[in-house]
Amino acid sequence: MDTKVYQQVPDATGHFGNYGGMFVPETLMAPLKALALAYEETKHDEVFQAELSDLLMNFCGRPTPLYHAARWSEKLGGAKIYLKREDLLHTGAHKINNAIGQILLAKRIGKKRIIAETGAGQHGVATATVCARFGMECIVYMGAVDIERQAPNVSRMKLLGAKVVAVTSGQATLKDAVNEAMRDWVASVDHTHYILGSALGSHPFPMMVRDFHRVIGLEAREQILEREGRLPDLLVACVGGGSNAIGLFHPFIGDEDVKLMGVEAGGDGIFPERHAARFQGGKLGVLQGTKTWLLADDDGQIELTHSVSAGLDYAAVGPEHAYLKEIGRGDYSYATDDEALAAFQDLSATEGIIPALESSHALAYVNKVAGDMPEDSIIIVNLSGRGDKDMEQALKLLDLD
Ligand SMILES: *Cc1c(COP(=O)(O)O)cnc(C)c1O
Repeated sequence: MDTKVYQQVPDATGHFGNYGGMFVPETLMAPLKALALAYEETKHDEVFQAELSDLLMNFCGRPTPLYHAARWSEKLGGAKIYLKREDLLHTGAHKINNAIGQILLAKRIGKKRIIAETGAGQHGVATATVCARFGMECIVYMGAVDIERQAPNVSRMKLLGAKVVAVTSGQATLKDAVNEAMRDWVASVDHTHYILGSALGSHPFPMMVRDFHRVIGLEAREQILEREGRLPDLLVACVGGGSNAIGLFHPFIGDEDVKLMGVEAGGDGIFPERHAARFQGGKLGVLQGTKTWLLADDDGQIELTHSVSAGLDYAAVGPEHAYLKEIGRGDYSYATDDEALAAFQDLSATEGIIPALESSHALAYVNKVAGDMPEDSIIIVNLSGRGDKDMEQALKLLDLD
C-alpha cells in the first residue's frame, strides 16, 4: 500500500485493515460514536488545541529533550543513538500526554466523573493527576494483586484524591480491572468518561490515544532534522498496548526509509504463559473491544502472561500495530526479562539515566543491533518512562554489590 495516504485509516467503524473495530455491549455503541464525533470536532477547535498545547508545555513539561547518548553509542560501537526523553515528563512517563488530552475532551462533552483501569499504576497516577488538576471525581480500577505489588503508586493516587477500587475477580490483575471499568461504564456512561490508558479497546480509543501521543514523534522529527539535517534510520519503542510506540512511529509512517521496530516482552522466553509477546505465538482474536493479535489457547481462552515489567504484561496488542505488521511497515521483536534488566543496568551506569523496565526492553533491542550498524546511521529510542518506580523490584533481581 502507499503509506503516503496512511493517515486515512481507521475507517468510520474504527478498523485498521482487518483490525480494531467496536466489539462492545449495545449500550456503549451510541456513546462511543458520540465520543468519536466530539473528538473529531476538537481537531479543528482552536480553543481546545490551544489549551492542550499550553497544558502539555506548562503542566506536563513538553517538549521533552532528544538526547544524544554519546557514551552508550560509543560503547556499542556503531549507530549514533538518541533517546527521546519521555521519562522527564510530569508523573514520569509518556502516559500523561493521553490523560491530559482525554480529560480536556471529557470536560468539553460535559462529563464530571472519570474512571480508569491500571496495571502497574502509571496510568492510574496520570489519570488521578489530571483529575486533581481539573477537580473531577476519579475512580481507578486495579487488580488486588497489582495493588499489593505497586503500593507506592496506590498511595500516590490516593494522595491525588482518587478512589482506588480493588478488583478481586479472575486473576485480579489488569485484564480483570478493564472488565470492571467496562462494567462501570455501561451503567454510568451518561455522566462518566472512561480514560483508557493505551492504544487499545474499542474505536475511537486506539486512534484517539495514538493522536494524543503523536506529539512524541512530531517533536522527535523536528529535533532530529535540526540536529542531524536528516531523518533517522531506525525508531525503536517498547510495545505493551502500544501507545508510546505508535506515538513515536506515526509521524514517520510515510517516510519509507525510516525503519520502525516495536519490542514486546519476551519474559522467560517464548513458552506458553511465560511471556507477553503477542506477535510470537499469538493469534487473531477479540479482547476487550478490539480485534487484534492476542495470546490465547486453542479453545480461545486468554492465556496468562508474564513480564518483569508490569506495563508490558497484557494479552493483546493495539490493533494499529497488528495492521502495521500485516502491511510490512512495522517490524516487531522481543526482549526477555534478563535482557531488559541488563539494559536497565547498562543505561543507568553509562548515561546516568535510570530507565523504566518497560523502556529497557527497547534499549535491549538497541543493545543487540547498534554495534552492527554503520557509524553514520542514526537510531531514536523512545525512553517511555523513568525507573524510580522499578527500584524495589530491580534490587531483588540484580546483584548490585
Ligand atoms: C504503560 C507503560 C508502557 C506500556 O504502554 P504502551 O501503551 O505500550 O506505551 C511503556 N512504558 C512505560 C514507562 C509505561 O508506563
